[in-house]
Amino acid sequence: MIGLNNFGRQWEDTAEDSVASFVSVGKSGWYILGREVQDFESSLADYWGLSYAVGVASGLDAIEISLRTLGCKPGDKVLTSPVSAFATTLAILKLGAIPVFADVTDNGLVDLDSARDAIIRDRSIRYFVPVHLYGHALDMRDLAALHQELAVTIIEDCAQSIGATSHGIPTGKVGQAAATSFYPTKNLGAMGDGGAILTDDELCFKAAQSLRDYGQVKKYQHDLVGYNSRLDEVQAGLLRRVSLPRLDTWIRRRREIAARYLTEIESDAAQLPRVPPASISSWHLFPVLIAPDRKSDFWQHMQNHMISIGEHYPIAIPDQRALAQVPFEIAPGGIEQARSFCRSEVSLPIHPYLTEAEVSTVIGAVNIWAG
Ligand SMILES: *Cc1c(COP(=O)(O)O)cnc(C)c1O
Repeated sequence: MIGLNNFGRQWEDTAEDSVASFVSVGKSGWYILGREVQDFESSLADYWGLSYAVGVASGLDAIEISLRTLGCKPGDKVLTSPVSAFATTLAILKLGAIPVFADVTDNGLVDLDSARDAIIRDRSIRYFVPVHLYGHALDMRDLAALHQELAVTIIEDCAQSIGATSHGIPTGKVGQAAATSFYPTKNLGAMGDGGAILTDDELCFKAAQSLRDYGQVKKYQHDLVGYNSRLDEVQAGLLRRVSLPRLDTWIRRRREIAARYLTEIESDAAQLPRVPPASISSWHLFPVLIAPDRKSDFWQHMQNHMISIGEHYPIAIPDQRALAQVPFEIAPGGIEQARSFCRSEVSLPIHPYLTEAEVSTVIGAVNIWAG
């Protein structure tokens, strides 16, 4: 079976370094918020080209804590995308803030024109959480222009976009803060949960450091009502010593596979959504669009060819049952494009340990699915 991930092969490649990293943390006798986390945070900030990084327990927490550090309070409206991991919206909801959903363009990424329009019509929207979905960078110049024009606070959801740029600008660079995830399937994965907040803003950095650790400013002095959301030393060690040094190679391989899919997939029935023109994607996922009434047939066909496919994501977030229990808004333009996108989207395997032969198998299976 060709899976969406192959952690067996990844382990063969990383076992030796991973064990060495574990031994080193074990021997240090220090397991929470020590040298490993600090060293990883500065390596990550350097890699990303931002001033500060703060390791936290998950991508979800990274978004929630970023919003908190930038003053988002219960009842505040936060504009975001209806097509994303549920965690993007969940972070807003956990704060008691009100998500407002703007529609997406035909590639599933939030439409910055609709976002702008929504903010102009309702100036009580002071926060925006755009998502660089699939590893595609939203147009960073357009995002910067929106930020300049409307002075809205932006927290970029970069859980899928580490390594992606647009006009040479890395994702995460325009907003006041960026949030990322180290969930194992992500481009920079840990062997468990983890996440980070990245920022150029020293105050945001200090507040995030405090919030992740019970709101302490120093031992036993709590100035904020914080969280227990600490990246641990074992994960930080693995991230810095094992994953980060391989990240460029991994992203390069994802890009090679994407390039083959883009040139060699020729089936009219499987459409390849347009990539944002200025985006150099990190290709976290490879979405294709299938007519909704033929999705299950495609699924079965790929299964028969021993290929797993995914869905990212089958239900627009405002249509999730959990949303019936909380206040939210849909921007005046509606979210019909998002709903239609969700009905059609499936994802092909695109992980760095796929072989050329496996990539060919996937392409062949998609192309023969004609009927
Ligand atoms: C994975 C993901 C998250 C959440 O990250 P966790 O570490 O699983 O909490 C948030 N947003 C997006 C776009 C994601 O892909």
